[in-house]
Amino acid sequence: MSVANIGHWVNGQVAAGSAGRSQSVFNPATGAVTGQVALASSAEVANAVASAQAAFPAWADAPPLKRARVMFKFLELLNQHKDDLARMITAEHGKVFTDAQGEVTRGIEIVEFATGIPQLLKGDYTEQVGTGIDNWTMRQPLGVVAGITPFNFPVMVPMWMFPLAIASGNCFILKPSPIDPSPSLFMAELLKKAGLPDGVFNVVQGDKEAVDALLVHPDVKAVSFVGSTPIANYIYETGAHHGKRVQALGGAKNHMIVMPDADMEQVVDALIGSAFGSAGERCMAISVAVLVGDVGERIMPALIERTKALKIKNGTNLDAEMGPIVTKIAQDRITGYIAAGEKEGAKLLVDGRSFKSNEAGCTEGFWLGGTLFDHVQPEHKIYKEEIFGPVLSCVRVKDFATAVDLVNAHEFANGVSCFTRDGGVAREFARRIQVGMVGVNVPIPVPMAWHGFGGWKRSLFGDMHAYGEEGVRFYTRQKSVMQRWPDSIGKGAEFTMPTSK
Ligand code: NAD
Repeated sequence: MSVANIGHWVNGQVAAGSAGRSQSVFNPATGAVTGQVALASSAEVANAVASAQAAFPAWADAPPLKRARVMFKFLELLNQHKDDLARMITAEHGKVFTDAQGEVTRGIEIVEFATGIPQLLKGDYTEQVGTGIDNWTMRQPLGVVAGITPFNFPVMVPMWMFPLAIASGNCFILKPSPIDPSPSLFMAELLKKAGLPDGVFNVVQGDKEAVDALLVHPDVKAVSFVGSTPIANYIYETGAHHGKRVQALGGAKNHMIVMPDADMEQVVDALIGSAFGSAGERCMAISVAVLVGDVGERIMPALIERTKALKIKNGTNLDAEMGPIVTKIAQDRITGYIAAGEKEGAKLLVDGRSFKSNEAGCTEGFWLGGTLFDHVQPEHKIYKEEIFGPVLSCVRVKDFATAVDLVNAHEFANGVSCFTRDGGVAREFARRIQVGMVGVNVPIPVPMAWHGFGGWKRSLFGDMHAYGEEGVRFYTRQKSVMQRWPDSIGKGAEFTMPTSK
């Protein structure tokens, strides 16, 4: 089988890695090495930044409507190549094809939003703030901005960033995860075909060396990051120390509170889909079910049965519900958590470690079955830490207030959900819960393109959420202009603070 060499994208073309460092890319379903991705040196990063910096003045000067037209063309191409992108995701990430299609769609929605950039960049204007004086604000691009993205959404998460950054007039450097790097180059090609000038969008493949080079480069004005909490924290501190604007989205431990009045069939469907979809490798996956009152007794038999019955297959099968784990390292980490949960006394009802694939060509893949724990306690490691795999932990609590306190005490606060039929409970939940994204009878409340995405507490470092209007604000800075004309200027120097006379 041929192994692809996966390079960078600089100044409108593929650039082979020249640093001599590379990393293997796997198909997680088969365990085979399918590619070798270059890992950029700081010199290669500097080269990409220089290309972006050179492209910036002309791109920033292009009327927003012209930039929007490139986005419209990009949107058209994305829709034509949606399944090509989805296939690339499945091949390197392992998530099932139908889920990968959903990922591409959610990315496309941000591009749709970015086509409205002329409206989004409109400033405010006040006539006559003082006699003969007008005041207005406008938003201008920052310059070269960078995006550092995780393995779990190799198309959607970069698209949380670059469509708005570029449409706002910035030039962009994407540093994708080296685990599934190929879609980044395909998106770069589509942007070029859409008419984006060379240098406006660049890709540097790489690891910590490339990230560090971006974090200290004086021409990089802002960094958007999505990934695990320890790295998000590091990116935020290091980027801010070097004078950059930073938004760094981190890890998660999303709870779903189930009230006794909820529809139990809907609850089981929601838990199975949101805990095991994408093998639990979603920052909005539900990893903790908080079962109030007698809910545990009522749903556990169905949860056990459905966890055991998951269709776990190579994601290229259209009826697959769950694919493999992304890497052998991740598989080992998750099995370590399952062992820890068992040792600490949580009740292991379904053990995914026993799952073996007997599908042709897949016996060497990174497989794990769905895993279900009951009677998990807040002090257990599997409750406190992010597992990022197909493991659902059930916690039993006596009432709604205890459930809310439990969620609010957790260090992560990305997403949360509550299933209930009671409007009063739903309202109280949405108001009192200390979490950034909230679902009422919605297990994975990922906000739409125009609302913005972001957690609270140690799930987000920075002030602004990704995409939506906050995204536009992140990638632009406000300028306020005050203007008057000579015939409204009085005689003599003014030594007092100007006021609205
Ligand atoms: P990760 O933190 O390992 O990697 C993210 C990015 O940081 C990658 O580009 C990686 O190359 C780079 N990186 C890794 N180690 C680094 C280091 N020491 N120094 C500098 N850069 C480094 O995350 P991952 O495993 O790719 O993705 C999974 C994580 O991302 C999970 O924790 C998940 O919750 C989180 N995530 C969060 C969101 C969100 O919106 N909050 C969305 C998706 C994923």
